[in-house]
Amino acid sequence: MVVRADERGEMDYDDLARMVERHRDRPAVVVATCGTTMTEAADDVPQIRELLARTPVRHHLHVDGALAGVPIALADGRATLRLDATVDSISISGYKFLGTPVPCGVVLTRRTLQQRLARSANYTGTVDTTISGSRSGHPALLLWYAIRSLGHDGLRERAERARELAAYAVQRLNEVGWPAWRHEHAFTVVFPTPPRP
Ligand SMILES: *Cc1c(COP(=O)(O)O)cnc(C)c1O
Repeated sequence: MVVRADERGEMDYDDLARMVERHRDRPAVVVATCGTTMTEAADDVPQIRELLARTPVRHHLHVDGALAGVPIALADGRATLRLDATVDSISISGYKFLGTPVPCGVVLTRRTLQQRLARSANYTGTVDTTISGSRSGHPALLLWYAIRSLGHDGLRERAERARELAAYAVQRLNEVGWPAWRHEHAFTVVFPTPPRP
């Protein structure tokens, strides 16, 4: 089921509450987004968590942080950024903000939930906790390298520079009379399609 969003792409929390209530006989898997694909909107994760905690409904809160989970998590102290440690799982893409040269991503979840996926693989003599089984280890190395070589400070600085560049683009577009905007935390600039020349 798709929860409504406002015109800037952020989840409508009242609509989520209504939906959970309407289907209270069933557990809920709620997907919040930190950085939507079109406007880089970020849902208020603690607010969603509180909303779910007030209902008797069993739930799992997943955060789709594919686009901006990393920069949002690193930008602590900003009023509009609220991504905290109470989520049940989060996914990020490696080839977007982190810039790995091949598509890859990571899903992080609590160990107790991961262990439920575990099955023993007879032919390797170990426990398999992956979803897909065999896969290349190369992307893991590329991700590790991106994170290790830039470090926390380097990644934070990269995010900050991207935001400054986006703010500059908004300013220049507005100066020529084109209605561009961005979310405060975002490096995505949104503007109407220019007319054909
Ligand atoms: C890119 C993107 C995805 C898909 O991620 P992949 O790593 O390409 O599978 C999912 N959600 C959002 C918000 C994205 O921006």
